[in-house]
Amino acid sequence: MTDAHCHFRRGESRHFLCEPFDGEPGEGDEVFYGTHPWNFESFDADRLRRRLQASPRSGVGEIGLDRLRQREIPTGMREVFAAQLAIAGELGRPVVLHGAKCWGEVVKTIIANAAARGIPSFLFHGFSRADGLLEDIIALNGFISLGPALCNDHAHNYHELARRIPLERIVLESDATVHSAGTAPSIEQLAIRLAELRGISLSLTASAVERNCERFLSGEQP
Ligand SMILES: [Zn+2]
Repeated sequence: MTDAHCHFRRGESRHFLCEPFDGEPGEGDEVFYGTHPWNFESFDADRLRRRLQASPRSGVGEIGLDRLRQREIPTGMREVFAAQLAIAGELGRPVVLHGAKCWGEVVKTIIANAAARGIPSFLFHGFSRADGLLEDIIALNGFISLGPALCNDHAHNYHELARRIPLERIVLESDATVHSAGTAPSIEQLAIRLAELRGISLSLTASAVERNCERFLSGEQP
């Protein structure tokens, strides 16, 4: 199956590898270039544009805003996010988003950014917010990437989210890094859990999330 967001390839049939990643992409993998919000001080717009122009299939990610590491979002982090949205919009590339503890701000920033209108689709990686944003996410042609918390028996709110999101908006991710690759559940394990939570078959679940990965890449609307 497709791992819709990771930083290290682990032997799935396909990986959407997001910067920063370790190792080389494999056959069939898709690569996303961009500066993670934690690293915003190292952003180089010319370098990003050059790499995207040299790699016409590549998307942009992971980019966004973050409140895990500090309460206030630094101005520089906002500027780097806006600049990367503008490049993705200009080149018409799909975008992988990070929005830990500030998804509302991330969505607001995209909607307010005229240059982002050229972006065909978004992947909301690590999304766990319970309420309020789904309509805006769908209007942006956003896909929600569900991860290892599906397999955590105590993550009741997350399971509720997994039941409520329309199936045609769900993809699955490990968010694996070189350090966590050995312990993260496989994408098939996530699909089994998602199928149980929604009371549908594994084959229906697996084919739906695979199709959604294609839609995210191509920008097709479900
Ligand atoms: Zn990640």
